Amino acid sequence: MAHCDPDVLALAALGEPITDATDVEHLAGCVECRGELESLATTVRVARTGQAPLVLPPESVWQGVQATLASEPVPLPLDRRRPRWLAAVAVAAGLLVIAGSVTIGRSIAQGPSPTTVAVATLTTLPGAPQTASGSASLQQRGNSRTVEVDTVGLADPQGFYEVWLMSPDDSGLVSLGTMSGGQTHATFPVPDGLPLAVYTNVDISDEPIDGNPGHSAVSLLRGQFAV
Ligand SMILES: [Zn+2]
Repeated sequence: MAHCDPDVLALAALGEPITDATDVEHLAGCVECRGELESLATTVRVARTGQAPLVLPPESVWQGVQATLASEPVPLPLDRRRPRWLAAVAVAAGLLVIAGSVTIGRSIAQGPSPTTVAVATLTTLPGAPQTASGSASLQQRGNSRTVEVDTVGLADPQGFYEVWLMSPDDSGLVSLGTMSGGQTHATFPVPDGLPLAVYTNVDISDEPIDGNPGHSAVSLLRGQFAV
């Protein structure tokens, strides 16, 4: 027995009821056709919910759809009078859904543009290389915050450089992350809930590789965020 027409499966995947009793009966008993339908339906479902990254169809797919739309209707068996262009339009619509979801997915992934909330000029502390300097900026994107750090003249740490947020009176200290010698730019996420009204200072220390996660007390650059 012949399998279901791919057009029928494509339409069914897009939510069209299967009206042909022969198709319904065949589908109930054919693992191959059910698998094909489930695969198409999954694609449509994923595209509509936008819950998974999708790859845009290659140009050849679009050309195929256009060619199908432009071509003369193919004669169908008597029991399959459904116009072929309808399936082509349905498939094209499905692809448009996917393409739209990809666009939406991308804009969600990118979210709103980051806004610079505050900036800090980092100046040298005793013991830092004379030519060292740096800056930090606090970026807000939606609910997430990041600190971007740029440095000049820090190339020769004992072990590595570490970036901290601290309160001006030294009562609080939070490590944001590390930078290697010669690294001039880094972006660090700010822990959720960290009160930046308290942790207003950015500090870069020189850390030996000694397994001690605490601050080495060798600060090289420091600055205070200002709005
Ligand atoms: Zn089948």
